Amino acid sequence: MKLESDGRLFIGGEWEAASSGETFESINPATEEVIGSVASGDEADVDRAVKSARSAFEGKWSAFPPAKRAALLQKLAGAILKNRDAFAAIEVADQGKVMFEASKIDVPMAADAFNYYAGWATKLGGSTIPNAPGMLNYVQNEPFGVVGQIIPWNFPLLMAAWKLAPALAAGNTVVLKPAEQTPLSAIKLGQLIEEVGFPPGVVNIVTGFGPTAGAELVAHPDVDRLSFTGSTEVGKGIMRTAADSLTPVTLELGGKSPNIVFADANLDAASRGAITGIFYNKGEACTAGSRLFVEDSIADEFIAMVLDRARKSKPGDPTDMGTKIGPLVSAAQRDRVEGYVKLGQEEGANLALGGKRAEVGDGRGYFYEPTVLTVVSNTMRVAQEEIFGPVLSIIRFKEVEEVVLEANQNPYGLAAGVWTNDLGKAHRTAAALNAGTVWINTYGLYSAAVPFGGTKASGFGRELGEQGVRAYTRSKSVWVSLG
Ligand code: NAP
Ligand code: MG
Repeated sequence: MKLESDGRLFIGGEWEAASSGETFESINPATEEVIGSVASGDEADVDRAVKSARSAFEGKWSAFPPAKRAALLQKLAGAILKNRDAFAAIEVADQGKVMFEASKIDVPMAADAFNYYAGWATKLGGSTIPNAPGMLNYVQNEPFGVVGQIIPWNFPLLMAAWKLAPALAAGNTVVLKPAEQTPLSAIKLGQLIEEVGFPPGVVNIVTGFGPTAGAELVAHPDVDRLSFTGSTEVGKGIMRTAADSLTPVTLELGGKSPNIVFADANLDAASRGAITGIFYNKGEACTAGSRLFVEDSIADEFIAMVLDRARKSKPGDPTDMGTKIGPLVSAAQRDRVEGYVKLGQEEGANLALGGKRAEVGDGRGYFYEPTVLTVVSNTMRVAQEEIFGPVLSIIRFKEVEEVVLEANQNPYGLAAGVWTNDLGKAHRTAAALNAGTVWINTYGLYSAAVPFGGTKASGFGRELGEQGVRAYTRSKSVWVSLG
């Protein structure tokens, strides 16, 4: 797994050690082996990276016509696909996600984001606004300048792509801080960014820890815009710091998404959707359908179907293309999941499946059994708080009004699922749910073209789609007296 650039930061087009000389280790969560040495960037490194981004923004990058930016983004998309196997191997080893998801979903979707936003680079034109005679007004969309981006560990390459692609398409330069647990794919991406010919300093990658590298990036006075994906607590702190410099922020935070199954749904499809909704990426997904609401009249039958499918989702070697569930990202994350399952039982939930560490291979790795809690009520902490692991809480309901109320009675508002064959009920329920995304008779679909983001404690601002690239521009109105 050793990458040539292990232990180095990508700043101003150079691969260099952190100024402190400090490094930390990246661990394979399936084997507990060290797979990489990573530079621990701090204040001095962030400062150098921001200065490089500033000089690239004012220099070479601003001289790049949009069509040339588009061509580079497309080239990068192609390079990602060419390196699909290498990226997939890194994501599996560094994150613990399974090979099928890494190679068939994460890597191609990362390439999609660069291809999609390549199209936008040439389409960010402004407008002219009719005005008084003798007066011309035009509005143009400009990049902010230097953008600071911080990403989490659950979809390392994909989150890097969702952040970088729109910011670059709009003409910004970037300093990106990957998560400490999963920095290796961002380093590999940096190598490709260099290879395909982005000018030095357009993208800078500073690996390191949140409270040092991350916090310095947020507080840096010369960063013009911030975008963060991660936990709600850290997001709040970022917004507080950004308030001091009035730097605009986009926050993509946690979730506790309701997945609602009505009695008239296609139960086979819904049970499949319930399983992928919670166990995709081992439940380490902000959109995980972690609260499964099931209509009372079909609950016994439906829960049996869900348990049946869950039993077949055995954790295994994530490098094996047939494995559906890999190890959790870290020992800390496994401990957190364990703690929540214990708490749920103390709160009175019934442990219907799982609830323990899984033995895979020689017994190493942070594997955890797919876990299903039944007899959960929406007010329990396991139904209110984000667990971020393979733990499904099943809640029964009787009426549409009741389930909509309970689905919305949660701090988060990221996503929701609705399963029914009644078209009117499907759309009425979707309209009543407080969430940034609603899936009807499906779950967990994304496209680079479709806006994504949350409400309430899930944050604000949208990534992807047109909104995702507009977020990286600001308008300038120019008034011209025609004399
Ligand atoms: P996290 O602790 O908030 O970390 C996210 C990123 O922020 C990491 O790069 C982290 O660095 C950095 N960070 C930590 N403290 C910081 C600080 N004081 N200042 C600046 N940066 C700081 O979250 P996580 O544990 O990595 O990820 C799990 C959480 O992210 C879950 O709550 C999940 O729902 C949420 N998430 C949301 C979305 C979404 O789109 N809404 C997507 C994915 C994940 P370190 O790695 O060094 O801690
Ligand atoms: Mg790792």
